[in-house]
Amino acid sequence: MLAQRTRLIATSGTANARAAAATAAAGGKQIIDLTSGEIWADLAPAIRDGAIAAINRGENRYTDTIGLTKLRFKVAQALSSRTEIEWTADEVAITAGAKQALFDAAMVLLNPGDEVIVPSPYWTTFPAQVLLAGGKPVFVDSHDSGFVPRVQAIAAAITPATRAIIINTPNNPTGAVYDRSTLAGIAELAMARDLWVIYDECYAAFTYPPHEHSHILRVAPQMRNRTIVVNAFSKQLAMTGWRIGYLAGPAAVIKAAKALQSHTTSNPNVIAQHAVIAHLENSDGTYERALHARLVTARRLGLEILQSLDKVAAPRAEGGFYFYLDLAPLLQGGQSAEHPRDADDVVAALLAAGVAAVSGTAFGDPYGLRVSYGAPIEHLESGLRRLVDVLNAWQ
Ligand code: PLP
Repeated sequence: MLAQRTRLIATSGTANARAAAATAAAGGKQIIDLTSGEIWADLAPAIRDGAIAAINRGENRYTDTIGLTKLRFKVAQALSSRTEIEWTADEVAITAGAKQALFDAAMVLLNPGDEVIVPSPYWTTFPAQVLLAGGKPVFVDSHDSGFVPRVQAIAAAITPATRAIIINTPNNPTGAVYDRSTLAGIAELAMARDLWVIYDECYAAFTYPPHEHSHILRVAPQMRNRTIVVNAFSKQLAMTGWRIGYLAGPAAVIKAAKALQSHTTSNPNVIAQHAVIAHLENSDGTYERALHARLVTARRLGLEILQSLDKVAAPRAEGGFYFYLDLAPLLQGGQSAEHPRDADDVVAALLAAGVAAVSGTAFGDPYGLRVSYGAPIEHLESGLRRLVDVLNAWQ
C-alpha cells in the first residue's frame, strides 16, 4: 500500500526512546528521562524579546525561501570569523533545524547509488537521509580508535561510487571531538578522491578542555568548495523546538537547496528567524556562557558518579552533552539467563528501574548506551546513581 521508500526508514531510535520514557511515565511510573538530545534550560532573553517584538510588529508573512537576507548575512558573518574565510549571504540557507539542512544536502548532492561514508556509531538520521536520497551509507567503525575514525579506515572504504563523507564533531552519540590531524587527513582524502564533506558541527559550542572544536575549513581552507557546513541554533541556544538551522556551502549548492525548499517547506518559521536575528544583534554571550558552565558542572558530576561503574569504562565526553558507555565488557561477561545480551536489554532494565537512556542500536552499535546530561542536574544525579546500581548488579 505504501511507497517502497517507506521501507528504507523507521522512526528515529532516539525518538522511540523518548516515546518509551513518556509511555512509562504516563503509566504512572516515575521516570528520570536521560534520553533527550537537548538542554533543558530557559530561553535566551533576546530570543524571547525578539520573538515577542516580531509578533507585535505583525511579522506574519512568508520570508525568502531560504530565510531572511539579514539572518543569512549574520550567519555568513559569524562563519567568516570562525573559519577565517569570507562567506556571503548567497552561500547560506536557513532551514528548519540542522536536520533539514542535512536533508537538503543529501537531496542536492547525491545521485541514486552514490555511496556516503558515515563513521559509526552514527547519529541515526545520517544513514536514513542518505537512503531517502537514493544513496547508500557505508559505515566505518570507530570503536577501536576512541570513536574518531582512522583516516586509513575511511580511505579503505572509498570506492568509485563514493560521493561524500559525513563528519559530525563534537559527536552525537559518542561525545568524541575530532582532532586536527584527523580532519587534515580527511580533507586530503576528499581532495584526492573528489569527495564532498558534510560537516555537522551542531555541538561546536560545547567542548571541554583540553578538547577544542577545530573547524575543517580552518585546518584545510582549500576544502571550501567541497564542504557543506551544517549547524543550528537548536543546541547552542537550547531552543530545539524553534527549528532554526542552516547549511553553508558553494552558491550553486545553496541555489539548489533553495529550489528544493521552495517545493517542500518554504521558509523556516518567520518569528523564530526574527528572534535569532535579535539574539545575534543584542546578546553579549552571557547566556551562552551560562549554558556552557551548566554543562561543565553536569559533566563533572556525571563523570564522578560514573567512575563507580565496575565493568564499564568512563565515557570520553570530550564535547556535546552525552555520556556514551561501551557496554561490551559487561554484556560479554555474564553467564546467567537474566544477564543482558545487548544494549536494548540494558535499556529495558534501566526503564524498569526508572531511568530512560538510548540504546546504541539506534546508532548502529548494539553495545553502546547514550545518556544525556542536558537534563536538569538533580534528575541527572539520581538517574546516574540508579544507572550505576543497575549496571553494577550484573556480574
Ligand atoms: N545533527 C546532529 C549530530 C544532531 O544530534 C542533531 C539533533 O539531535 C541534529 C543534527 C538536528 O538538529 P536540529 O534539531 O537543529 O534539527
